Amino acid sequence: MKLLIAQKFVSKYKLLVENTQEMIIFFDSDGKINDCNSKAIQELGYGEDIFCVPIYEIFKKAFSYGSNKLEINAKFNNKVDETIAYRKNQTCFPTDLKVAIINEKKSYIGVCSAINISDKKEAFREVKLMKNELRSFNQVRNEFVANITHELRTPANGIMGLSDNLMETELNPSQAEAVKLIKRCCNNMNIIINDLLDFAKISNNKMILEQREFSFRNLIQHIIDFNNIRISEKGLKLIVNVSNDIPDKLIGDELRLTQVLNNLFSNAVKFTATGQIALEVIKISQTEDFIELFFMIIDTGIGISIEEKDKLFQSFSQVDGSITRRFGGTGLGLAISKKLVEAMNGTIAVDSEKSKGSTFSFSVRLGILPISNKEAVNLSEGYTSHIYINENVKTLRKSRGDTPTVKELNYIGQVLKEANIKVQDDKSVKNTVEKALNVIDETIEKLTICIEMESWDKAEELAYYIKKLIPAEQGEMTKNVFRLLLAVRKENHDVSLALINEIKAVMIEG
Ligand code: ADP
Repeated sequence: MKLLIAQKFVSKYKLLVENTQEMIIFFDSDGKINDCNSKAIQELGYGEDIFCVPIYEIFKKAFSYGSNKLEINAKFNNKVDETIAYRKNQTCFPTDLKVAIINEKKSYIGVCSAINISDKKEAFREVKLMKNELRSFNQVRNEFVANITHELRTPANGIMGLSDNLMETELNPSQAEAVKLIKRCCNNMNIIINDLLDFAKISNNKMILEQREFSFRNLIQHIIDFNNIRISEKGLKLIVNVSNDIPDKLIGDELRLTQVLNNLFSNAVKFTATGQIALEVIKISQTEDFIELFFMIIDTGIGISIEEKDKLFQSFSQVDGSITRRFGGTGLGLAISKKLVEAMNGTIAVDSEKSKGSTFSFSVRLGILPISNKEAVNLSEGYTSHIYINENVKTLRKSRGDTPTVKELNYIGQVLKEANIKVQDDKSVKNTVEKALNVIDETIEKLTICIEMESWDKAEELAYYIKKLIPAEQGEMTKNVFRLLLAVRKENHDVSLALINEIKAVMIEG
């Protein structure tokens, strides 16, 4: 009877059963095989003797037989799962197996459909192997890029320094022109080195974004100052609109945001001969903790065609060779910007038409200060304690024989605020302030050593700390600290040390 059902089934679907790539095996409630297609016979290495083998000998993990009962592992009951099939000679191969039970008039018949997945597994293994090889190849490449660019920096800085020295000697006009050209070439080389270093950092996932408070309006001003000379040199008009509802104090990576904006801005200037450059910043959304900003950099320059647009954000891509020769660049700027924007939970896009100009836009999510903190800044209690501390610093410095400057007093107040040092009583004021003075001196000292030893990661950390210690809106001083951070991030030894000296001079001389 049972055999009849299997045969009925096979004869009904004979064509289908015989032509499939799957092994189809029918078995009864004792696990005895009643029928199967020729694919099963062929794959499992049996002949007619397959009918003497119980199903649980072929799929040992899918079936078991005990207490006169065939048990089916639930994983395979009407579901496909991976298991091992054993051949007659006890070699085995991986399969995707599904088991179905057909009950007809009290009789029991089970059907296994299984497919040999050795090829699939092999292909999967190969893809995995290739992926691993590609990953290690990329890692070696990125490390190579990072090392070589690092090595290039020393001679580039040397050439730059020596050209500066040469410029100070007496040169005839053609010699002076040649030295100027050397300097310009060196500058271009430095830009390429920095792009490559950033690219290597991003590719190696070594780019960590800071989460620090900064003044958004200062950042925008910095971008304008930085690009203004070239904009006016080219006779372009600059329009800047920053929406009023954006709070000034934001939390995020100020330097990386500056880098993205500078890259888009300098491209806009580079590729625009006449007309204007506009920067628009609007708020798209705000929650208790975050604000989402949308930036647009609009130019009236050479534009980009639709086909070229697709390649834009890929590494080392420049839309055409003749543009590279005319304008220079590494083709990494937009790829780096894209990664940075994505790291700031945003997206970047371009809208452009050949000869009609381009609009690059991006969004970023930044932190905002909790309301309570904003209010705390205005608390008169905090303000009086500030003055109180400053008065004591004056006394303290005087007693040490120094004359404190107003700026110095501000810095110390800021240190106390940043380090959250509370002054408990009159006696502890002296100690606290002494500590604050030491914090500044020591941090600058440590930073100098780190730069000299080229320990850049640590130097970057210290430069950030110094930036935090210096209050905003200190004019040249704030700019210098910002420049110092950029120089340290770009691992520029000479510029970093020169800036430290300038900062020290202002601090001591006022
Ligand atoms: P590069 O450092 O070479 O400028 P980018 O990744 O910043 O690299 O830019 C890649 C290419 O995209 C540029 O070489 C240029 O062809 C095109 N491009 C970028 N910005 C603009 C723009 N504002 N107008 C026209 N073309 C642009």
